Amino acid sequence: MKHLISTLLLLTAAVTAQADTKLYIFDCGYFKFSDISMFSLDNSETDVREMFVPCYLIEHEKGRLLWDGGLPIEMAGKPKHEDQPGVEVEYKRSVVDQLADLELTPEDIDLASYSHFHYDHVGAANAFSSATLLIQQTEYDAAFLHPETNPVFTPSLYSELANSSKVFLNGDHDVFGDGSVTIISAPGHTPGHQTLLLNLKNTGKIMLSGDLYHFEASRALRRTPTFNTDQAETLRSIDKVEAMLKDTGATLWIEHNKALADTLRKSPEFYD
Ligand SMILES: [Zn+2]
Repeated sequence: MKHLISTLLLLTAAVTAQADTKLYIFDCGYFKFSDISMFSLDNSETDVREMFVPCYLIEHEKGRLLWDGGLPIEMAGKPKHEDQPGVEVEYKRSVVDQLADLELTPEDIDLASYSHFHYDHVGAANAFSSATLLIQQTEYDAAFLHPETNPVFTPSLYSELANSSKVFLNGDHDVFGDGSVTIISAPGHTPGHQTLLLNLKNTGKIMLSGDLYHFEASRALRRTPTFNTDQAETLRSIDKVEAMLKDTGATLWIEHNKALADTLRKSPEFYD
């Protein structure tokens, strides 16, 4: 009987933990490209030119995790403008201001992990230096130790993380130990690129893509951007993630898919 009661208590705890996990989506920027050939797509293969740039907060009873940090925070509040020739950007309100709507400050965030260290994913990273950084060893080596050999990185955006507590990952990682939030190693776009698998009580399983794909057409046509650090490795990561999606029944959310993002609830609303 005693055993039964403790088992029931454990089960209740497990259900409660899952019920408590919430996913908040923040609008952390916008891109419009005049030419998408850098994504190895011919401009005639899709008419999508716009991209959403997200940040996410996952609230779990054991802690708060920031996943992806959007465009550089200094861009927030500036009018829409051309950042590079043929690339329009806009970032309306910084993720820090959007967190304040939830009565949170960056210091309230316990853990931070970024799908990869490109400038549209770590734009607010310096503000979250008090959080413990979960990073693939390979991404750390490329972004922090050898950025000069990887021109895709902008070290000034994440230099404050040099002194952050860090957990170095070498593959997949169950963040809270209960299967609700799992970092999936998916290298190739950058040396330590990763995706995030969520298991939410009411919403079900969602895979946040990082930049495994930028467009639905990238997925359908199996195209990898010209600026990826390793094309063959990217294709192996695509195979791994697609097999996982099949096995788990998870829904893939391509993070930059603006048409999808337009249909999703943004913070302060959430998914649980
Ligand atoms: Zn990106």
